[in-house]
Amino acid sequence: MPGDSNPNLYRGRLAPSPTGLLHLGHARTFWTAAQRAADHHGQLILRNEDLDSQRCRPEYVEAMLEDLCWLGIDWVEGPDCGGPTGPYAQSERRTHYLEAWKKLRDLGLIYPCTCSRKDVAQSAGAPNDLDDEPVYPGKCRPPEERRSSAPPDRVEDPVPQGQNEPAGVN
Ligand SMILES: [Zn+2]
Repeated sequence: MPGDSNPNLYRGRLAPSPTGLLHLGHARTFWTAAQRAADHHGQLILRNEDLDSQRCRPEYVEAMLEDLCWLGIDWVEGPDCGGPTGPYAQSERRTHYLEAWKKLRDLGLIYPCTCSRKDVAQSAGAPNDLDDEPVYPGKCRPPEERRSSAPPDRVEDPVPQGQNEPAGVN
């Protein structure tokens, strides 16, 4: 049931990016997500990952909805049916993310990082025990005593208008 307030309710998600037509790999991934939600007697949410404004197209959104329906996957919240935690298109959530980011910035909990993905991968020690993801080494993290007093304007807007991804912030 959409909007169920049970905090223990399993909420799985489908997050296709409308940059092209779905393929067999997508079908497998989304089918697995749907089965997992069903196995947990949970809900499935569809989120349109339309952040790449250069490559995302409305016709691919239409096609993904049609293809997911054809596959027999049911979601209870999404861009086509709404729900209590919308909007369900990432491009419409920018203000939510920016507000959260500003809170973190104002608390001095974020800082600029100039490391590349390669830098992080090379400087990381042993992979995390739980998976193979490298652990961020904290090279650019300011000393503890300076974190809470970092001036709020030290870190710039992570997503300047017209760009797609946060840059230079951890
Ligand atoms: Zn860094």
